[in-house]
Amino acid sequence: MTEHLLKILVIGDQNVGKTTFVHRYVSGQFNRDYRSTVGVDFSMKALQWSDTETVRLHLWDIAGQERFISMARIYYKGASGCVVMFDVTNSSSFLSCRHWKQDLDSKATLPSGGAIPCILLANKCDLADRSVSAESISRFCKANGFVTWMETSVKDNKNITEAMRFVNNPGPPSHNYFLLPTEL
Ligand code: GDP
Ligand code: MG
Repeated sequence: MTEHLLKILVIGDQNVGKTTFVHRYVSGQFNRDYRSTVGVDFSMKALQWSDTETVRLHLWDIAGQERFISMARIYYKGASGCVVMFDVTNSSSFLSCRHWKQDLDSKATLPSGGAIPCILLANKCDLADRSVSAESISRFCKANGFVTWMETSVKDNKNITEAMRFVNNPGPPSHNYFLLPTEL
């Protein structure tokens, strides 16, 4: 059995839903009052990729360091995928996504030299008071080199595993990266 270890980053402004997203993805639950912690939170999830391969995802949630805007290079080092998240009801969290993406790209790349694949997540789409339009998200996504973007609601469990398909990328190019492996 071959085991792939993948480091996945989850970045974005404070209060957009990063920690609840990771918790939902890993445990399947929605926590309304998840305490914001200081430093970096690590979560793990194991996936059965094929008959002979498992994938161990290490999710890095920046947890409380959002105020620094610029992260240390070491935080991004070795990442194979990244989730950049904002809150659709908070336009300043959307504007910050440009800084997050630039900060990442200026400090880390894949071993091949290519940019770390990033997906842009427009979270809290269950809320009615949206302040960012789908059109501007789509334009921003293309202009800034994201793999794709999706609306998510961690609250309603919408597009959580679907979003993670785009960042679970275990290596050999013979794999179909966009197929979701079954959970162990
Ligand atoms: P973080 O600072 O980015 O880690 O954000 P948190 O995960 O701590 O979430 C901030 C707040 O947003 C919490 O009260 C969550 O319950 C809430 N939240 C997260 N995702 C959603 C969502 O999809 N919809 C709604 N309505 N609230 C959410
Ligand atoms: Mg958090």
